[in-house]
Amino acid sequence: MNLKELETGKSAVIEAVGGEGVLRQHFLDMGVIPGAEITLVKYAPMGDPAEYRLQGYELTLRLADAEKIEIRPLEKAAEKTAPKKPAAAEHPGLGEGGKYHDKKGEKPLPAGTVLTFALAGNQNSGKTTLFNQLTGSSQRVGNFPGVTVERKSGQIRNHPDTEVVDLPGLYSLSPYTSEEIVSREYILKDKPLGIINIADATNLERNLYLTMQLMELEVPMVLALNMMDEVRGNGGSILINEMEEMLGIPVVPISAAKNEGVDELVSHALHVAKYQEKPARTDFCEESERGGAVHRCLHGIMHLIEDHAKKAGIPVRFAATKLAEGDELIRKELQLDENEINFVEKIVEQMERESGLDRSAAIADMRFSFIMKLAEACIIRPDESKERERSRRIDSVLTGKFTAIPAFVGIMALVFWLTFGVVGKFLQDLLETGIGILSEEADLLLTVWGTNEVVHSLVVDGVLEGVGSVLSFLPIIVILFFFLSLLEDTGYMARIAFVTDKLLRKIGLSGRSIVPMLMGFGCSVPSIMACRTLPSERDRRMTTILIPFMSCSAKLPIYGLFTALFFPDHAALVMILLYLGGILAGLIVATAAKATKFRGEAVPFVMELPNYRMPTAENILRPMWQKSKDFLTRAFTVIFIASIVIWMLRSFNFHFELVADSKDSMLAAIAGVVSPVFAPIGFGDWRIVTALITGFMAKESVVSTLAVLFGGNAGLASALTVKAAASLLTFCLLYTPCVAAIAAVNRELGKKWATCIVIMQCVVAWIFAGAVYLLLTVLGLQ
Ligand code: GDP
Ligand code: MG
Repeated sequence: MNLKELETGKSAVIEAVGGEGVLRQHFLDMGVIPGAEITLVKYAPMGDPAEYRLQGYELTLRLADAEKIEIRPLEKAAEKTAPKKPAAAEHPGLGEGGKYHDKKGEKPLPAGTVLTFALAGNQNSGKTTLFNQLTGSSQRVGNFPGVTVERKSGQIRNHPDTEVVDLPGLYSLSPYTSEEIVSREYILKDKPLGIINIADATNLERNLYLTMQLMELEVPMVLALNMMDEVRGNGGSILINEMEEMLGIPVVPISAAKNEGVDELVSHALHVAKYQEKPARTDFCEESERGGAVHRCLHGIMHLIEDHAKKAGIPVRFAATKLAEGDELIRKELQLDENEINFVEKIVEQMERESGLDRSAAIADMRFSFIMKLAEACIIRPDESKERERSRRIDSVLTGKFTAIPAFVGIMALVFWLTFGVVGKFLQDLLETGIGILSEEADLLLTVWGTNEVVHSLVVDGVLEGVGSVLSFLPIIVILFFFLSLLEDTGYMARIAFVTDKLLRKIGLSGRSIVPMLMGFGCSVPSIMACRTLPSERDRRMTTILIPFMSCSAKLPIYGLFTALFFPDHAALVMILLYLGGILAGLIVATAAKATKFRGEAVPFVMELPNYRMPTAENILRPMWQKSKDFLTRAFTVIFIASIVIWMLRSFNFHFELVADSKDSMLAAIAGVVSPVFAPIGFGDWRIVTALITGFMAKESVVSTLAVLFGGNAGLASALTVKAAASLLTFCLLYTPCVAAIAAVNRELGKKWATCIVIMQCVVAWIFAGAVYLLLTVLGLQ
């Protein structure tokens, strides 16, 4: 039978895992391996995906993927024989550094060497929390070169000669997501002097899988067991000394949230890095297991490729396991000749035959059997975790069959209402007023001083107007990020993805894309940045493309103006139609994209559902601060320049003479060239086209430009027919996102994508606006 046929609440043992390639590798890496016990917890409200319990944690799987997993029913639950030792000996802790290196041959790095550390761990293991504890306020955010994955680094507090680089959260070093490739490249190529591996102690089975792969890299390493407060609080314990003995690296119990054990962790980390104390153990295969098939295979390959691995600068054990798994990237880097490749393949074939497992499954099995042994020897399990029980209760509402969707709609509505309606709006108005006063003051001062009229206009109409209009969005962005961090850190975000996955799957995306898309109704800029959290490049790109179709709040003034002028009796209906129209256009584009550029499936939805946790204030406040900084930097660079350019185009003619009426400006001339394009869809007036062009800078300026150029609403009302107004509204709904959003796309995905999005959106907008115009003409509307 297969996993899809398992009944709710029932358990089974996995027999075989189907599928192929990296996706299958990902299942295995997440602990879905032959022999593992799996329980169906519940289905998502829409019937797909399902939540399973496995290797001591909850994960989600789509039914289509579950179907590929063969199981046999479990007769009776296996008795877990955990050590029943009473209160474990306390970990001696500080002062015992250097347990795992040979004192005789020790060669400490010269004083003054900057000790670089990679901070690696599963998602939700407390990485961000620990990183904040370690670095305090001395962190920088950048991108990993060549990719758009965010890279944070910083100095360890009170240790100026150190640098910690926060790697993206990962489960394995198999190249499944771009994050995993980036991380492993970073460790192999940039050669940090040490690794700080953080593991969630409440779920070591899952977390140690990565630990073992990191150890194979032969980089000095310490293991931080985080969330020890929860483990202890539930009456559990971990035999630290035994664990160190089995792993051959320093293991430090910590609580990042409570800042316990962090100093000890730092001292161990500094020690292993300074003395280049490599893990004492990298070999996790046992002669006694599966007839020694995996053991012999790995060691055979190791001998065979030793010199190649050395030449390529890849640790030999790591290279051998990756070759055994069939990792193409490593095979290329090793530059084996054809004969050697055949040799390796033969060894692997023999191993598959003897072990009864295929290559990937055999390696995963080797790792998990070691983990099981370690867990048995070192973990004193609590009876039932309070946090898990609490999570189960919260989930009975938040992912419950009938309550999940209402709860989701309610929570999102609350977030939006608070962000855009209450707090954000208030702060935005305040800031706008402030900027308004500042402009007026500047205007007055410049007049009093008798400043040159060009400079005067540049400052007031260009810079203050342009940068100011964008700056006023800062509060909304900050508050939106406050709520996002809250949703993310509590663990609710994962549930949203779980609940909505089936819906998004229809357009070729996964549940994880829903949040950035919803945020798009607020502002595209933070939404585009939020796409970083998506697991694959394909999903990231596709979601980014769809975000501009979600009508952002800056378009509201445009809708307001036109509905009031042209559809006063049906204002609400027109508004709703506009929002729905945006979504519809997005769906059409997504479907087209899925059929062409983004063929294939969204990544399988194998995702951990962590326990709900109370986030720390620092974790919430820090991203808010960082986003503000990001945003301000942009406001004063890209937008500053764009404002000046538009101002110049609007203020000068082609002889670079200041014009009295913007009708004679370069902008008007350019708009005049472009305007025939819009004549067929109803609005060829150069003033309207000019407004659209300024809308490129910020959507609100469409309204302000129209006001200036028409000198009041009466003029505008007479310049357009009703059907032309409808067409124009449609165009405004869909055409190119503003400069800030384009800049965000540029930053996240690069120039090519930014250009593509601008062109694509304009074309789509024109087509839809034309369709509306044609439809209304056919219907006989004036
Ligand atoms: P990341 O995904 O690995 O970056 O994990 P985070 O640092 O965002 O932490 C995930 C959640 O665990 C947050 O809600 C944290 O507040 C919480 N957390 C982190 N460290 C600890 C800890 O030591 N104890 C407890 N109880 N919670 C923690
Ligand atoms: Mg985090």
